[in-house]
Amino acid sequence: MSFDQPRAAIINGKTISNRVLEEVLVDVSRLAIDGALPGLAVVLVGHDPASHVYVRNKVKTATDLGIRSFEHKLSANASQEMLLGCIKELNENPRVNGILVQLPLPKHIDESLIINAIAPEKDVDGFHRQNVGGLVLGEQVMAPCTPKGCMRLLEETCGDIAGKHAVIIGRSNIVGKPMATLLLQAHCSVTLLHSRSVGAQEICRQADIVIAAVGRPEMINSSWIKPGAVVIDVGINRIEKDGNYRLVGDVDFESVSQVASAISPVPGGVGPMTIAYLMRNTVMAAQQQHKALKSKSVFSETLIPFK
Ligand code: NDP
Repeated sequence: MSFDQPRAAIINGKTISNRVLEEVLVDVSRLAIDGALPGLAVVLVGHDPASHVYVRNKVKTATDLGIRSFEHKLSANASQEMLLGCIKELNENPRVNGILVQLPLPKHIDESLIINAIAPEKDVDGFHRQNVGGLVLGEQVMAPCTPKGCMRLLEETCGDIAGKHAVIIGRSNIVGKPMATLLLQAHCSVTLLHSRSVGAQEICRQADIVIAAVGRPEMINSSWIKPGAVVIDVGINRIEKDGNYRLVGDVDFESVSQVASAISPVPGGVGPMTIAYLMRNTVMAAQQQHKALKSKSVFSETLIPFK
């Protein structure tokens, strides 16, 4: 995809995520042959309907790939200690390679405490402070699924993005900040915009790549976009119109698709990529844990016992 084409191509997250899942399936089969079938635990607290849908989709995708899944559903008034106890058990369970705690958590639970209680090697969301720090330092760690999915969309759409100016709207810990790190590692010039940015629209209009992660329905219209830019819409917003509900992104698809060279739709763009990369991270965790276990047993076999 060139950066100066006048009409927007649709970046099909469904097709690209299927390619990622095919790669994952190959790795799952290899691990299964080695007797190390990957396992993913999903922990859900409370009754948030959107969270229930996300968890159902994650568990279904895992099952379809042959990944073992463990579901832990706690009531909305479950205590922080109960949740910590559940995570401790999962950390110690060798059949569980990845642990995901569905966010948001109820207000009485300290989200950061919970995330950092997950063993870093099982933190398939990539939110543990050890993984966050490692990512910034350019180490091989578990990186968050949504930004990784966006990078794959860009890679498949644009090829090499070195030297491009990427603007991210939104600076959350789960999307905006890790996205900036990954784009920097791909040698882009990166600008992060947020609610206190001055002249955000003008800055965004200079971007070759725009990543919208604001959480505001259709906020980014064509006046934010340079002709020929590539636009990735992370937003998922449920809006009501004439009594009907529908999902829209943070980008005004109709207007932006007139000026961008490529755009990811909502639904069918970043959403399926997030799930695919969760599966990828789970398999990566299983591979690393299996390797560590194998080298530990080889090491103990080579030890010469004292006489
Ligand atoms: P947050 O609410 O955590 O962050 C939103 C960011 O947008 C903040 O940094 C905020 O700035 C910034 N912002 C808000 N209003 C403006 C504005 N008017 N101008 C510029 N910046 C603004 O959201 P998330 O990052 O968690 O999620 C963003 C969107 O992505 C949501 O729609 C969410 O549902 C979706 N999402 C989709 C996923 C997927 O798989 N497709 C996964 C995760 C999220 P400030 O920091 O100053 O408050």
